[in-house]
Amino acid sequence: MSPGLKNIKRICLLDNPKSGTATHANRVKVLFHLIEDCEFCVTWEELTSLEQTLTVMDAHIESGCDLFVVSGGDGTVRSVAHHLTGRRIPLLIFPAGNENLLATELGLQARPSEALKVIQQARYKDIDVAHINGLTCIAVAGVGIDAAIVHLVHRRRKGHINKLNYVWAAIQTLFTYRHTKIDIRIDDRKIDCEKAFALVGNIPRYGGGFNVFKDAAYDDGFLDITVFRCSNFLQLTSLFIFLVCGKLEKSSRVEFYKGKNIVMSSPGSTLRSQVDGDPGPSLPLNIQVVPAGLRLLVP
Ligand SMILES: [Mg+2]
Repeated sequence: MSPGLKNIKRICLLDNPKSGTATHANRVKVLFHLIEDCEFCVTWEELTSLEQTLTVMDAHIESGCDLFVVSGGDGTVRSVAHHLTGRRIPLLIFPAGNENLLATELGLQARPSEALKVIQQARYKDIDVAHINGLTCIAVAGVGIDAAIVHLVHRRRKGHINKLNYVWAAIQTLFTYRHTKIDIRIDDRKIDCEKAFALVGNIPRYGGGFNVFKDAAYDDGFLDITVFRCSNFLQLTSLFIFLVCGKLEKSSRVEFYKGKNIVMSSPGSTLRSQVDGDPGPSLPLNIQVVPAGLRLLVP
């Protein structure tokens, strides 16, 4: 028996039924029964809203839950992680969404037998998270054009979001988006930006598997910041080509930073953000790293 396994008796499976396909819903059922067959005390909870998620989690924390398993996309994982940050109750991600950036980075799969194996191995990893105006971010947040795409996708959302929804919103946003000046402060350093967009993250890869940060690590106590200086469609196109070719560091319009406290503002505009693929708050943003804030089960 793995030494960490003796600490796991009560498990709560949190399932967002809106994330993922019918096939995934079936996988969640299989996972539940696999866990049950191993004689853990397991409860299955369907998540319906942020408020209900917090109430459900509070009840399970109160009754001594040893492990939360969350089935959902990055947004669902983020809202669950928000409630577990600093608590030292481990979380296992059972990925269901379009990207699942953090789960992919950790090598977690949406296979019930693999997820059960991860529980039985009971290997813990404490990872950094970011707090953005009080919200937890587990993977990547953005300010500028990517946030505009996320806001458009969510405004039109009628049910499960698929990759095509993002592609269509991206095409429309590319031709209509007006780039804005952003003021960025990273720790004591002021980054002088004219028109730009920026990403803040904790893992190297963003949507589509593109590498957007330089040497980002989820356990180094720093957040990575990439600033893309861009004011028009032509510059955006050239950035996209560098991105697709995996050569962002060769572009004179891209700068990489690391920091612990970041402030982003955009005086005179109503620029918005995205946080882990969900619509985020309008600027100004106050972003801090929470070192080793979240305990995860990893393969
Ligand atoms: Mg880091």
